[in-house]
Amino acid sequence: MTSTIPTPVPTPVLLVTGGSRGIGASVALLAAQQGYAVCLSYRSRGDLADALVAQITADGGRALAVQADVAIEADVVRLFERVDAELGRLTALVNNAGAIEQQGRVVDMDAARLRRVFDTNVVGSFICAREAVRRMSTARGGAGGAIVNLSSRAAGLGSPGEFVDYAASKGAIDTFTIGLAREVAMEGIRVNAVAPGLIETEIHASSGEPGRVDRLKAGVPMQRGGHPDEVARAVLWLLSAEASYITGTVVDVSGGR
Ligand code: NAP
Repeated sequence: MTSTIPTPVPTPVLLVTGGSRGIGASVALLAAQQGYAVCLSYRSRGDLADALVAQITADGGRALAVQADVAIEADVVRLFERVDAELGRLTALVNNAGAIEQQGRVVDMDAARLRRVFDTNVVGSFICAREAVRRMSTARGGAGGAIVNLSSRAAGLGSPGEFVDYAASKGAIDTFTIGLAREVAMEGIRVNAVAPGLIETEIHASSGEPGRVDRLKAGVPMQRGGHPDEVARAVLWLLSAEASYITGTVVDVSGGR
């Protein structure tokens, strides 16, 4: 009788930017539960990122926290090098880090504000995706992978009187998702986006209105805000083999809004 020696299955490796809190933290935790080794990056909340790493490790998972501002190209390059060195071959990227400014009207927005929003939300996502494609592309000796970008329902709603700049940056993410997906479709890489609606995180306080979800939830067909875990589940599904024929798609997670 012949016995077969099982081939070790390599641990999938996921990088989630902005994984210290909110949706990114939910993605990091769920990914670890599903067996990914996880790198979560953050900009300033190293305390929260370290606590998440401790939690994942205590539960038997593998995680790494790295400070890196996605708006700074050298930080992004260093971030990916840390993943290479400490977790191994990258299989999944979640472009989650995102920033918003104080609510206001376009008539009052200066160029510095617009650059901050677009540098983080758009340029950061491009540069992170570039580093991921360089590692994943079968045309470059990689073994493929999947990318999920965080868009927003704001891209379709426009966010008048609140943050048209942020909404426009997420519109750019939708177009980026479609274009990159088609560009690398034959290189083993799927690229999709998730567009959350009103999700209970600190991003609303960052825009100056901590109670924003409560104010607006009556306008959501499901009459409530979403939980970050509800977004994370869609992200992890898009990364998984269950979504093997899905690329260039934006999935709304918005209670119908
Ligand atoms: P959040 O609670 O404000 O958390 C933002 C995360 O991004 C934090 O981990 C933060 O790091 C990180 N971050 C911000 N700027 C960064 C930068 N320049 N470099 C690296 N990391 C940076 O936000 P969230 O609500 O979870 O949102 C996550 C994503 O979902 C964003 O792209 C957002 O636009 C999108 N989204 C959210 C909602 C919603 O209702 N919450 C709706 C639609 C779309 P630190 O902790 O270190 O500051």
